Amino acid sequence: MPQSPSVERVSLLGLPIDRVSLEGTEEIFESFLSSEGTKLVFTADSNAFVCAKDDPRYKRCFDEAALITPDSAGPVWGLAHIGKPVDGRVSGVDLVEVLCRLSARTGATMFFLGSAPGVAAAAAERLSAKYPGCKIVGSRDGYFGSLTDQEVANEIASLQPDILLVAMGMPRQELFILDTADIIKAKIAMGVGGSFDVHSGTVKRAPKVFQKLKVEWLWRTILNPKKLDKVKNLPKFYFMVRRASK
Ligand code: UDP
Repeated sequence: MPQSPSVERVSLLGLPIDRVSLEGTEEIFESFLSSEGTKLVFTADSNAFVCAKDDPRYKRCFDEAALITPDSAGPVWGLAHIGKPVDGRVSGVDLVEVLCRLSARTGATMFFLGSAPGVAAAAAERLSAKYPGCKIVGSRDGYFGSLTDQEVANEIASLQPDILLVAMGMPRQELFILDTADIIKAKIAMGVGGSFDVHSGTVKRAPKVFQKLKVEWLWRTILNPKKLDKVKNLPKFYFMVRRASK
């Protein structure tokens, strides 16, 4: 998938990333709507950079995305460290709102796939109320049972969405997008991780003290110790960037 023409793509730890601001994304997405093929939007966090070093599934996300945004504080710091600063994070949670606004303005249709049963539908309902005119044509959870990815993709394709959001964790969600792009034929497709959990109100933000100290990740790790592996990669990312720029 080709990169977006209007954005500067740079290299961080030998992997591509785009110098994009949240404000600039709506215009880029609008250009994707009128171009050929499916454009994968990849929101890259520190963990993705570390994992891509020896996991070809993560490497494929970087290689095949049309837009790669700095999802967390790690890549934002890394870009500043190599002299290519960006305005701030461009996260999946925020991009979901940008795409709902775009849908309301242009009539582009959306499909929400992923998270536990009921969560994507609840997120769709709340976002439709927040962005009147936003066209969410369907949703389903991310636990397929005996259905194959292709069967789920065929269900989604029958609704012909222009924008597909997939919340099944990284890199599973991005690989689903790449492997079913020829069936679903959405113009924009993005992996959104835990975004439906946030937009549905299922997951509350961290207590104020964690927000103030900018350690919301610490709160989420306490609630979900499965995230510990990702947290372990934070110092690794920091040292890799420091070593690479010596
Ligand atoms: N999930 C899913 N199907 C699966 C595994 C996970 O739908 O087979 C959902 C899970 O319910 C959660 C989201 O994927 O809503 C994963 O969120 P997480 O924050 O772990 O993703 P990350 O952004 O960290 O990759």
